[in-house]
Amino acid sequence: MVLADLGKRITGAVSGLVRSDVVDDKALDNMLKEICAALLEADVNVKLVQSLRKSIKHTVSASPPGPQRKRLIQSSVFNELVALVDPQTDNLFKPKKGRSNIIMFVGLQGSGKTTTCTKLARWYQARGFKSCLVCADTFRAGAFDQLKQNATKAKIPYYGSYTETDPVRVSKEGVDKFRKEKFEIIIVDTSGRHRQEEELFREMVQIHEAVKPDQTIMVLDSSIGQAAEAQSRAFKESANFGAIVLTKTDGSAQGGGAISAVAATKTPIVFLGTGEHLLDLEKFDPKRFVARLLGMGDVQGLVEHVQSLKLDQKDAMKHISEGVFTVRDLRDQLGNIMKMGPLSKMAGMIPGLSQMTQGMDDEEGSNKLKRMVYICDSMNDRELDSDGKCFVNQPTRMTRIARGSGTSVREVEDVLTQHRMMAGMAKNIAKMKKAGAGLPGMG
Ligand code: GDP
Repeated sequence: MVLADLGKRITGAVSGLVRSDVVDDKALDNMLKEICAALLEADVNVKLVQSLRKSIKHTVSASPPGPQRKRLIQSSVFNELVALVDPQTDNLFKPKKGRSNIIMFVGLQGSGKTTTCTKLARWYQARGFKSCLVCADTFRAGAFDQLKQNATKAKIPYYGSYTETDPVRVSKEGVDKFRKEKFEIIIVDTSGRHRQEEELFREMVQIHEAVKPDQTIMVLDSSIGQAAEAQSRAFKESANFGAIVLTKTDGSAQGGGAISAVAATKTPIVFLGTGEHLLDLEKFDPKRFVARLLGMGDVQGLVEHVQSLKLDQKDAMKHISEGVFTVRDLRDQLGNIMKMGPLSKMAGMIPGLSQMTQGMDDEEGSNKLKRMVYICDSMNDRELDSDGKCFVNQPTRMTRIARGSGTSVREVEDVLTQHRMMAGMAKNIAKMKKAGAGLPGMG
């Protein structure tokens, strides 16, 4: 079961209960059974699942049946899922501008290390840091070529050697060179395999001493599920890394298990790898992760993603952070989403959109988006710059727009529903910005 399916199953169980007339203990137990079965299938540790079940039951049982109870069920499922994946540590390394910040990567071969190094270099580059890559994997033939290829694609300067066999020397040379050239983020990719495990760990320690990284990041393939805990412990003993990136959360059946297992060890998870593409790297935030998993969207993630792409954002981002979100902002966002890559990836970030495009492949989904854009393009300026209220009880206006865009009134209504949802999220973000808090819970 991939993570998206896990989310759908949990959301299905919660909505089923919330929609039903009776919310008695039996119905609650059935919902919990379904949620727990889904988590166990995602390879979440059975003890963690039991404890989640107990906590939700404890919180909900204490409240009298009624609408209040339904809200409590939604929020406690959300909160307990967040607790399950929350390492409870401040996790993001904050590099300083104007100096060389060294990041060393460790992890087994095949975990996605080289790919992630490049993704992270690009991530920092997009945020204004002068970034580069050093290949210290002299063990595997072709490792340097692979890094070179990735780096060239991402337009990131790199360093490596075809002849030097000492990884400690190569990493030191690379770091020294880039330090002199005033690079601000220097990422060192190390080898992930040796004839013997001890040699691999010894080499990591030596490179660590040579380049003195500001942060060491371990890359872990999330498809190993809860075995991630043992693997991270083994590395921790030697490499003493500060944070983890979990890769392949896009396709893996066991991603939920890996995230919760690592979180249980209180090791910071900094990023998730969500695909093979350069942009498939997401900053990990427990609340936002669960919100997205449950189809509640991740507008803040979308904002960051869009900003990192340096697309023309006009006023949309400013509006979102101020809590004002017009129909024109929606139109701009839809246009940008179409430029941003596969719809299946982006839809999850937008509240409601993943449901709207559910079951569609990327092509069908893109067509749906295009029609939404046509609808916006058939509106006049006053309508576009409005908060959407001018459409309420205005069937002739909707018919005019449907006709003008070659769509149906139903589809116009869909666009307005989508707008309402995003405007609501924008308001919440603005409120939270004021209060200095994270994303709100469900309910
Ligand atoms: P390394 O040996 O640890 O350096 O691993 P690589 O960077 O060569 O990655 C191994 C394979 O995993 C490659 O085919 C990558 O494209 C793929 N990969 C890496 N990260 C991800 C990810 O987040 N999602 C998916 N689907 N594939 C990934």
